[in-house]
Amino acid sequence: MTAPLIDPFQRAISYLRVSVTDRCDFRCVYCMSENMTFLPKKELLTLEELDRMCSTFVRLGVEKLRITGGEPLVRRNIMMFFNAMTRHLEAGNLKELTLTTNGSQLERFADDLYAAGVRRVNVSLDTIDEQKFADITRWGRLPQVLKGIDAAQRAGMRIKINTVALKDFNEDELFTLVEWCKSRDMDLTFIEVMPMGDIGNEDRLGQYWKLSDLRMRLAEQYTLKELSERTGGPARYVELEETGQKIGFITPLTHNFCESCNRVRLTCTGELYMCLGQEDMADLRAPMRNNPGNDVPLEDAIRAAIERKPKGHDFDYSRQTVDGRVSRHMSHTGG
Ligand code: SAM
Ligand code: SF4
Repeated sequence: MTAPLIDPFQRAISYLRVSVTDRCDFRCVYCMSENMTFLPKKELLTLEELDRMCSTFVRLGVEKLRITGGEPLVRRNIMMFFNAMTRHLEAGNLKELTLTTNGSQLERFADDLYAAGVRRVNVSLDTIDEQKFADITRWGRLPQVLKGIDAAQRAGMRIKINTVALKDFNEDELFTLVEWCKSRDMDLTFIEVMPMGDIGNEDRLGQYWKLSDLRMRLAEQYTLKELSERTGGPARYVELEETGQKIGFITPLTHNFCESCNRVRLTCTGELYMCLGQEDMADLRAPMRNNPGNDVPLEDAIRAAIERKPKGHDFDYSRQTVDGRVSRHMSHTGG
């Protein structure tokens, strides 16, 4: 039996987030600049390499895989990869296969994803106003995403909406979004904007809407009951007593979740980031590519990387500068 992945702080690593592409069909203003330079295709792990990489992590005890990007569903032939992961679900080694998507391609892929074993999908959506949606995503169209959500629900998947809290942008939609999610039986999580990557002219501090403020606003209309549920990640949950809805808050700029962190992130080029907020990473592509047919060097590289997983991250907005900012984009590490 292979020993599980345990980091120096006795945290078991059971969750891998995998970015399968850095490309996207949207250009959300807090995520990308309008003119992004993407990686040359040869830098990317092939679908077979992604399979080999993920299968190795599953062998080492990873039970949950979240596929992300960039936009995972714009990666060519991505269903081949999802279908390949189904065997780990069927064998019982993988407990959950899921993805985070902007929803633009969901209409096309919903049935296939369900057939591959995907039961829950996170859809990122910051507004349900068509014009504002076009503004914030630059290239996105709301009706297309709504059709994607419809298709995913029809296929039988549970949807969680992820909304980045943005000052002067979706503050006025707080209750609309909550009610909309209730009416469609979808969970809702708010995310604080993080200082990642060069995004052009946008003023990141101007975008920052503190979730503690958002929570107080929510409490003006609902009774919030704190839930003890923990996912090993930065999300905290409350239940709205009046509606029974579960609302999540992801506040990556606070340190209240690092102690229980159970996850690592693999980029589309095979770099393993042990912490979203730190620059340290391990190249897993070389030990894999240099050793066809032999996964031992890859396993060794993964174990060595986990040995370096830091205790926590260094984001800090407290002095009104973006200290501790990380130069790579979220689309590179996978949000
Ligand atoms: N394209 C897919 C999507 O939008 O869901 C997956 C990748 S995207 C990078 C993953 C998540 O990261 C999205 O929910 C997005 O809103 C969030 N995100 C991107 N840039 C962010 C930032 N600077 N701060 C906080 N969240 C961010
Ligand atoms: Fe694309 Fe997702 Fe980034 Fe928006 S948040 S630009 S959809 S990767």
